[in-house]
Amino acid sequence: MSLPLESVAALRAQLRAGEIRPRDIVAAIRERVEAHNPALNAYVHTDWDAACAEADRADIALPLGGIPVAIKDVIAVRGQPCTCGSGILQGHRSIYDATVIRKLRGAGAIPAGRVNMDEFAMGSSNENSYYGPCRNPWDTSRAPGGSSGGSAAAVAGGLAVVALGSDTGGSIRQPASFCGCVGLKPTYGRVSRFGLVAFASSLDQIGPLAHNVEDAALILGAISGHDPSDCTSVDRPVPDFAASLEGGVKGLKFGVPKEYFIPGMDPAVERAVRGAIDHLAREGAEIIDISLPHTEYAIASYYIIAPAEASSNLARFDGVRYGHRAKDPADVIDCYARTRREGFGSEVKRRILLGTYVLSSGYYDAYYLRAQKVRTLIRRDFDRAFASCDAILTPTAPSPAFRLGEKLDDPISMYLGDVFTIAVNMAGTCGISVPCGFADEGGGRLPIGLQIIGRPFGESTILRAAHHYERTTPWHRERPPI
Ligand code: GLN
Repeated sequence: MSLPLESVAALRAQLRAGEIRPRDIVAAIRERVEAHNPALNAYVHTDWDAACAEADRADIALPLGGIPVAIKDVIAVRGQPCTCGSGILQGHRSIYDATVIRKLRGAGAIPAGRVNMDEFAMGSSNENSYYGPCRNPWDTSRAPGGSSGGSAAAVAGGLAVVALGSDTGGSIRQPASFCGCVGLKPTYGRVSRFGLVAFASSLDQIGPLAHNVEDAALILGAISGHDPSDCTSVDRPVPDFAASLEGGVKGLKFGVPKEYFIPGMDPAVERAVRGAIDHLAREGAEIIDISLPHTEYAIASYYIIAPAEASSNLARFDGVRYGHRAKDPADVIDCYARTRREGFGSEVKRRILLGTYVLSSGYYDAYYLRAQKVRTLIRRDFDRAFASCDAILTPTAPSPAFRLGEKLDDPISMYLGDVFTIAVNMAGTCGISVPCGFADEGGGRLPIGLQIIGRPFGESTILRAAHHYERTTPWHRERPPI
């Protein structure tokens, strides 16, 4: 019997018809992981016995009853390792469930396996991982994107039905684009961050990576909503995202920002995204030109604000409470210094140094405060744009997946790759990446993503648009060669 590991709805139907049991899904995933994880390095921790035991207890009458979900190694699952792809958290296990995990369990889902990521979610290639890079299932010499590279590679490679990732500056959408799956970053405040290890608290959001838009909608519906344990989660009703998928794109007005088609972007990306825009027009959407004039300042201000928040958030990893501790410290300062020197990788150290610098007296006004002002201008760009359109269409990333190692010695060029995703986090709004074509690259094909950006709390609209796009195009049905 074949298991449709690529659709929650199809699995649910088989479960409810009594054709399969939840543990059969876990077993099918395990088989795929054992066959392909040595090449992909997507999972960094698995406990199949525990997952099977949970599967046997799952109530299949619940909305996600018996569906396994791969979890990015930055989200706490009680009793499981939570290492954020870092050496400093080796040996650490979570003592509680993140709110998203509690909600997934409440919907019947099973957290099954922890997936690779850039250390503390800092990076765009998954190369900054203590566990070594995860690899792109379309071409294992290439990056899966980051920081949620493990989530995207697991889904795209058929090693997971769905996965959770986190997105601070593009970390769900860019890997989804690189690996050819769907990735959604919810509006800031839509999903509780309680139990998500903080990178940049004013930007971080948890969201789904999936094979299709419907599955992303189902997971988003399950994890959304106000949480008294996270005062930045917003108390407003959660729509039935899955129910609002139909409706098509007729009557929807999409803005295309001229600042998102820049010299130097890959011609295959431009061709695919322009093709997607034309397709939506033919399907009855209205397309208008818009401008987001402060886009060019988004990267510079993000790479001040995010490291500033990170330098503060990561101060807690000091060898006293969590994970790694340096051996035989002479005194407490020696303990802090050596623990952090030994435990953190170089990108994390770079960000802590940058963040500490821009917050220090004398530089705070010149860097941090100015970056915050730019952030306000970016948000206003989006407010103004959404006065004249329902959603915004852009590429997700300026290129398809690059080769592992290609950008490792050049952090600036790595940062520049975030040019199309970062402003969405700075504005606090939502965005989804869906497959929209391929680039031919050295005999193989590499996926390209279309980003649909929505109004704050406008997830229903971008899901509906993405669903219609998916239903009327072939891209999401393509599978990587593994
Ligand atoms: N690539 C960006 C960074 O390195 C975004 C990461 C993320 O969204 N977590 O900060």
